[in-house]
Amino acid sequence: MLKIEDFRKFIDESAISRIHERARNLAGKKILMVNSTNRGGGVAEILNSLVPLLNSLGVHVEWKVITGEPKFFNVTKKLHNALQGQAEKFSEEEKQIYLETNKTFAMSCDFSPYDLVVIHDPQPLPLIKFMNPSRPRIFQLHIDITSPDQEAWELASPFMSKYHQMVLSSDDFLKKDLGVPQRVFPPAIDPLSEKNRELSPAATLASLVKAGISVKKPIIAQVSRFDRWKDPLGVVKIFELVRARIDCELVLLGDFASDDPEGQTVYDELAAAADKSHFRHDIKILLVQDAVLTNALQKAARVIIQKSIREGFGLTVTEALFKQTPVVGSNTGGIKLQILDGRNGYLNDPLDHAGVARSIVKILRDENLRSELGRIGRRHVIENFLMPRLVLNWLELFAEHLNK
Ligand code: UDP
Repeated sequence: MLKIEDFRKFIDESAISRIHERARNLAGKKILMVNSTNRGGGVAEILNSLVPLLNSLGVHVEWKVITGEPKFFNVTKKLHNALQGQAEKFSEEEKQIYLETNKTFAMSCDFSPYDLVVIHDPQPLPLIKFMNPSRPRIFQLHIDITSPDQEAWELASPFMSKYHQMVLSSDDFLKKDLGVPQRVFPPAIDPLSEKNRELSPAATLASLVKAGISVKKPIIAQVSRFDRWKDPLGVVKIFELVRARIDCELVLLGDFASDDPEGQTVYDELAAAADKSHFRHDIKILLVQDAVLTNALQKAARVIIQKSIREGFGLTVTEALFKQTPVVGSNTGGIKLQILDGRNGYLNDPLDHAGVARSIVKILRDENLRSELGRIGRRHVIENFLMPRLVLNWLELFAEHLNK
């Protein structure tokens, strides 16, 4: 089982002692986390490390996943999109599906043993309506709510304001008028997971070759769910601008999350766009769940792109920076916290395709620049975005609510 001591290479002894001390103060407490998928996407990625680590520290934390019919996930994806700013309308029937699925799940779930419950993201947000309000209830929202659609905000915010605490991933997302205490926890990656641990050059190469990636040309890549917010079609357009100047290949590695019904459509649109491209022989689209391949690609790519239009945080950026690969990303949401423009990568307006392409070309043409950006990127992640820091943040927040 993963232990906090395993992170010694990245944190000092005093931080380890502080984490143990905070954990001891929570002995005997029971905590529940609820989200909407255990596979695919950043929240599942975080919980897959955070929950076992907290348990290894003696804090009893359980994790449940809300279930529902496809029509529920259609509504919640629409809500997700609208909270990130897309204009949407919600029918009474859709609101009903949203609420009823949460009610059904709540009925099947006994919340009474838990001293504290943490709900992640909009899918299980209404569970608050069906829980004992006297125990601490925390809502963590991992998406970008800088400018939500009004109707979606009116649907979701009354639930948010019933929680005792909200956690967001950037100061830009704080909503003062909600009347709920709010805190910012930048997410974190697990440097010891299969996806992030050191991979030998031979293992890196073997994984890329097995996936059918030609390793003959410099690789630029985006690793992301097939989601419009990640703008994979924009990535193809940018690649065309880069490829017209430098011989290189593009890899788009993605997967579907079980709570995202739009994945297949976006994948099909992307495949069609790539097929029409003049440079289609240099574009590889991979639909696979393979942590080692993700690791290898993020390590081997000369540049990683994160072309999101909106982004709550963007763990893929952290993952690439940790592997010393510079990232050219959009000047939006959580990406802005991670890319120090000109120091570990470049930030561009997501609609400025020519600007993004210029940043990529600049890195591809200068190996010294690339390695300096990579060095600073890894340090920035180690200092700010590793799992032990997130563990400490949660332990402190649990204690604030449970040891009053
Ligand atoms: N991911 C993956 N394989 C893929 C695409 C994504 O393992 O083909 C992982 C990625 O490495 C990261 C997470 O899914 O750990 C995505 O998190 P992020 O915060 O970037 O975006 P989200 O999907 O949550 O919007």
